[in-house]
Amino acid sequence: MLHPFPAPAPVTVPIVGSDQHFPVHRIYCVGKNYAAHIKEMGARPGRDAVCFFLKPNDAIVLDGRVPYPPGTNNLHYEGELVMAIGKGGRNIAPAEALDHVFGYALGLDMTRRDLQTAAGQVGHPWDTGKAFDYSAPLSPITPVAQCGHFASGRLQLTVNGQVRQDADFSDLLWKTQEIVSELSRLFLLQPGDLIFTGTPAGVGPVVPGDRIVLSIDRLGELHAVITA
Ligand code: MN
Repeated sequence: MLHPFPAPAPVTVPIVGSDQHFPVHRIYCVGKNYAAHIKEMGARPGRDAVCFFLKPNDAIVLDGRVPYPPGTNNLHYEGELVMAIGKGGRNIAPAEALDHVFGYALGLDMTRRDLQTAAGQVGHPWDTGKAFDYSAPLSPITPVAQCGHFASGRLQLTVNGQVRQDADFSDLLWKTQEIVSELSRLFLLQPGDLIFTGTPAGVGPVVPGDRIVLSIDRLGELHAVITA
């Protein structure tokens, strides 16, 4: 097939314990899924506050090097559990939802907080705050057979060795199976979709030189450094 310029390379993520790579379709993200984080953002917590947004799949960073993005003076980390969908579908019942999960990863939903906040105040979309280049540092994907599911489990994030986020997945307002089910009522879920499940309290700014370590029980660690 001829193209007027080179076609974009497929986006893939290594799979732990395998020579195979996970081909990424879309990146869905859940916003406002931990009560303590909603409060720190100045909103009223509740299951009705939960929202969805997307990032482009070429925002994924696999080598942990995150260039400080243009257009912001307030780049924030958000440590999150990421679901990797292996079987697509629509109108998936919560009881069947976890059968559609291939595995899990650690992810950072990097956020230009100043742009996100300004957009929210005037009812504009979040894209400039959320969907920018290099905004989705990601670990390799661990298959469910190795890590199980995450009804509970600890997430911890440090910046330069200081603990900033420390939470348990039992505090998710929408549980992983509810996220998959609800997304599948709004979109045709496809194999290769990733879902960032939301961040707990403790988000904050980072600057060039800062080192972020996100750790999740049974998934290991994701290391990232902010570069100039
Ligand atoms: Mn987030």
